[in-house]
Parts: sequence; C-alpha cells; structure tokens
Amino acid sequence: MTRTVVVLGGGISGLAACYHLSRVPRPPKVVLVEGSERLGGWIRSVRGEDGAVFELGPRGVRPAGAAGARTLLMVMLGGSWLQGLEAEAGRGGEVAPARLLRRAREAVAAQLGLEEPPARSLVHLHRRCIPQYTLGHWQRLESAARFLSASRLPLSLAGASYEGVAVNDCIESGRRAAARALGADP
Ligand SMILES: Cc1cc2nc3c(=O)[nH]c(=O)nc-3n(C[C@H](O)[C@H](O)[C@H](O)COP(=O)(O)OP(=O)(O)OC[C@H]3O[C@@H](n4cnc5c(N)ncnc54)[C@H](O)[C@@H]3O)c2cc1C
Repeated sequence: MTRTVVVLGGGISGLAACYHLSRVPRPPKVVLVEGSERLGGWIRSVRGEDGAVFELGPRGVRPAGAAGARTLLMVMLGGSWLQGLEAEAGRGGEVAPARLLRRAREAVAAQLGLEEPPARSLVHLHRRCIPQYTLGHWQRLESAARFLSASRLPLSLAGASYEGVAVNDCIESGRRAAARALGADP
C-alpha cells in the first residue's frame, strides 16, 4: 500500500520536503496543505503598475547591467531600529512609509555611500516575519525530537522556526524532514 505523507505549509521548506519526498524510488503519495492562496511563503515577488518587480522576501543587491544603472536594493530595517522609530512616532506607534523610506535611504547613504534617490521604491512592513530564536532554542529542539521519537509520533518538524532562517537552511530542513518521514537517516 502506498504511504501518504502530509506536508503542512507550502513555503520553501514545505516545497523542499515535497520535492525530496517525490524523488525516492517508490515515492509516497504527497499531500501539500497550504493555508493561503499561493505557494512560496515569504518568498514573494510583486510587480508594480509600471512593471518594476520588487521582492517582499529574500533579496540581495543585484546589479543588472552597468553598475548603478539598474540596481535593485533591498533594505531591511528591523529590531531595535523599528522600535526606535515607533517610539519616535508617538501615540499608536504607526510609522509612515515615507519615514521608513527616508531611514532606509539614510542607511544606504551611510553604509554604501549611495546618495542617488531611488527611481522606484516599495515600502512594506512585515511584522514578526523572521523567527528570533531565544536562549535554549537548540536544547528545546533536541528535547522535542527525543519526545517525537520516544512517542513514535509520525511528525517531523521543518522550517524557519526550527533549524535556521536562511533559504538554504529551510531547504535543508525540508530535505531532512522528508528523510525522517521516510524512515531514513537524514
Ligand atoms: C523580508 C525577508 C527577507 C529575507 N531575506 C532573506 C535573504 O536575503 N536570504 C535568506 O537566505 N533568507 C532570507 N529570508 C528568510 C527566508 O526567506 C525565510 O526564512 C524562508 O523563506 C521561510 O520559509 P519557510 O517555508 O520555513 O516558512 P514560510 O515562508 O513562512 O512558509 C510557511 C507556509 O506555511 C503556510 N502555513 C502556515 N500555517 C499554516 C497552516 N496552519 N495551514 C496551512 N498552511 C499554513 C503559510 O501560508 C506559508 O505559505 C528573508 C525573510 C524575510 C521575511
């Protein structure tokens, strides 16, 4: 009888797990359950009315063509920076997008020496978008793994909340979860 493996979440971790589950010689039936209307999770591109493409998730500085002519720059402001801006904003703590853009431009000017104003820009506020591991995270993870194994629960954990937040960590985490689900040593 063909086994069924249910993958919860179609972000990069879940998609990597599906990929690896379907690559074994006798693959199980794979059911992917995604709560939103699209796959990809935090990996998401949006195209503005003028055709400019922005990344809402992972992105680096990617120069295309002559340096500086068409450079896409993602500036992430977070943690204490945002808390500071929210404190400055006063009641309600809502920071205007124009204020965030100004802060991003200041950072780009100070850290990269780029003073040119952006031809196009998109400001997005993602709250709690990247898991912040607290002290004892890895011990809790090991304890959870021991519990799952001792209880023989057919459950494998994967994704940014567990074994690293970078895209490559998530892909590896999905691969390892797929191996565990198949009873193989990851
Ligand atoms: C702004 C930003 C910039 C980043 N930049 C970089 C970068 O430059 N380089 C890098 O390596 N990493 C970067 N990261 C980190 C990386 O993109 C994320 O850690 C990674 O994409 C997370 O993937 P994931 O599949 O674990 O989780 P997610 O992308 O959160 O996917 C989880 C999926 O599960 C679904 N889901 C959740 N709950 C349920 C439920 N109950 N039922 C059904 N579906 C559910 C969600 O809808 C989502 O589709 C960035 C992240 C952000 C937010």
